[in-house]
Amino acid sequence: MADTHQSDLRHTVYIETYGCQMNVRDSEMLCGIFRQAGCDIIDTPEKADLILLNTCAVRERAEQRVIGRVTQLFSLKKQSSVRIGIVGCMAQHLKDALLESLPGLDFILGPDTYRTLPELFDLDPGEHRADWSTNRDELYEGIPSWRRDGSPVAFVTVMRGCDMMCTFCVVPHTRGRERCRSWRDIVAEVTQLAEEGVMEVVLLGQTVNAWREEKEKMGFGDLLRKVSATGIPRIRFTSPHPLYYGEEELKAIAECENVCESIHLPVQAGNTDVLKKMNRRYTREEYLGIVRTIRQSIPHVTLSTDIIVGFPGETESRFEDTLSLIAECSFDSGYLFKYSPRSGTRAEREFEDDVPAEEKQRRLEQVIELQTELTRRSQQAMIGGQYEILVDGIGDRGPNQWTGRTRGNRTVVIESEKELMGRLVKVIIEEAGTWTVRGRLIE
Ligand code: SF4
Repeated sequence: MADTHQSDLRHTVYIETYGCQMNVRDSEMLCGIFRQAGCDIIDTPEKADLILLNTCAVRERAEQRVIGRVTQLFSLKKQSSVRIGIVGCMAQHLKDALLESLPGLDFILGPDTYRTLPELFDLDPGEHRADWSTNRDELYEGIPSWRRDGSPVAFVTVMRGCDMMCTFCVVPHTRGRERCRSWRDIVAEVTQLAEEGVMEVVLLGQTVNAWREEKEKMGFGDLLRKVSATGIPRIRFTSPHPLYYGEEELKAIAECENVCESIHLPVQAGNTDVLKKMNRRYTREEYLGIVRTIRQSIPHVTLSTDIIVGFPGETESRFEDTLSLIAECSFDSGYLFKYSPRSGTRAEREFEDDVPAEEKQRRLEQVIELQTELTRRSQQAMIGGQYEILVDGIGDRGPNQWTGRTRGNRTVVIESEKELMGRLVKVIIEEAGTWTVRGRLIE
């Protein structure tokens, strides 16, 4: 949707977002920064004065996609004086190398430098801006974000950066050290969103459940209770680290009616030696213990995970430990990947990438097959059950189709002639396969 206050005198900005929900939220903030500076945000690149690609560096494929897209966008420079640049994790990760491979870029800016964005309009023709300086205190407080899609779901960043230093991960190198927003600011933002009609907030952080406010001796469980007290109908959070699910956090999830009982619990691997090499800071047994405690503390909880296969040193028997852990935990869903070394990480510097590509592929296919079956079973178990869903999308097969998510984060497709967007409705599940769950509206 284009800004309604367009005028020929105002600069126009077009933003494309790649990667995780943190980036989606950051793009809303970038829109806020530009609008505060008197710019219009537009929906197509052709009429833009400034084009930004807000990027992700976690996987190489994502970086290749961005490079392809920028090359395509460069053709617009033939017709206008548009400035094109890359911001976000990829800018921070590749730095000068990015300018070398894409010399036509007008700017590259890291995630801690966004306050300077409006200065890009002051650049002289042909002048470049490259800034990947880091700022440990930057939390972007006081910037009104701009949500343009009218979705009933909003993202709220509660912390930035990560101190965990998993050996395969670029995030600590691109997003910097961990820092937390104050609970008062978070609660004020959620209260405002609730007043605007938002039905669900997703609290975001790289290790979101490590959030704390030391001065006030508060941890993530306390934050959940404070956010819950705003009365917003639903609360989720991502992405957590298994180590930070303490008693207080689990009690808060179980006791706060509006905190959804769906937990992401990235394990990455099922073998203790591999976990140690990944610097995940828990053993297989400790992880399984956390899963047991979660299941005991939160009835009807759904669990999802992240897995990387083919990490250096992953022998066949170590890989089998991952398969058996997936089966034992019976995850409801999983995000499954093959390892590929990312420059700048400890794994890339210190470990030989010793699992052959075809072997990684075979292992990936095996975990996909196992997880697909677990997901299918878990979805089939929903048949005949009644669930509350928050309608947040429109189905793409036929008229009057809506999609919504259960508290356990399952997407359900329903049909109704009524306008349901943003409503909490009750459904009965009639059909569930591997990919789609279908329900009937009952309330
Ligand atoms: S905890 Fe997550 S974001 Fe932080 S280093 Fe590990 S994988 Fe990366």
